[in-house]
Amino acid sequence: MMKAFDRVSWPFLRAVLDRFRFLVALINLVMNTLEATQLSVLINGVSCGFFQPTRGVKQGDPLSPLLFILASESLSCSLILKMGTGKLAPYSSRINCPIATHLAFADDIVIFVNGSSDGKPKRHWVTWRKVCLATNKGGLGVRCLASIQDACSAKLHFNFLKGGTLWSSYMHTRYLDVATRQIGSLTWRRMQFLKDFVEDNISTSSGVLVWTPSVYDSFTFSSAYDSLRPKAGRCLSSSSVRGDLIPAKISMFMWRLLRKLLPFPNILESFGFSLPSICLLCKSASASLEHCVHQCCFA
Ligand SMILES: [Zn+2]
Repeated sequence: MMKAFDRVSWPFLRAVLDRFRFLVALINLVMNTLEATQLSVLINGVSCGFFQPTRGVKQGDPLSPLLFILASESLSCSLILKMGTGKLAPYSSRINCPIATHLAFADDIVIFVNGSSDGKPKRHWVTWRKVCLATNKGGLGVRCLASIQDACSAKLHFNFLKGGTLWSSYMHTRYLDVATRQIGSLTWRRMQFLKDFVEDNISTSSGVLVWTPSVYDSFTFSSAYDSLRPKAGRCLSSSSVRGDLIPAKISMFMWRLLRKLLPFPNILESFGFSLPSICLLCKSASASLEHCVHQCCFA
């Protein structure tokens, strides 16, 4: 939600303040403060006139976080309303278990919903595994929840082997005779599932258990996650479409373009759609991805 700070619509903000029943005089005062904002840009150190923004809250203004929280509260209320009325399906859990619709902290939000296909086959542009690859390996660097869970289980198993804590003593005693991976608590079974991985990555130095993937010898979550996350060879095109000076939406577009993950007619044919198409610029060829971005005389 970080970008929402700069892009929150003023009419929407006014409507939110009105819905929270703030006094009209106060709402007008706040909105006048925003709408009276004048911005200027410096080109080669010289101011080039002023212009008026039409959205966003002021950076550095102590009032801005309060306005942002009120605006984001409306998102929270909308999610609860839509899940309450069945327009969004909340993440399924056990019967009688409280339903978690979303989790918000500062400008981060996690929304728990169930996927639905209305009985029709789902179509995915790319596998989740490729999305979770590191950016220099051709992925988007999204954290893989399954790998995070495995890394947590590996940490538990390492601490179990390391010993020296009340918890490890309890686990050793409790599961002393449990040799198979199908017996015991869910936590124990998860630890057993990572047993081979942990044992392949430990050594002993002067009687102390050492976690070899980490340069610090002690267990680190990041080293375990890096060992467990989906892997692939290095992708040379990644560095050309990513960088501090390249806007995120341009990087994402280029990422999809290079992998032919854009809804051009010739690509949609692979999904079973047959669409008539013609390039709207030159009107002399089909609007295929290759034509529109490379072969067209206007490209
Ligand atoms: Zn064309």
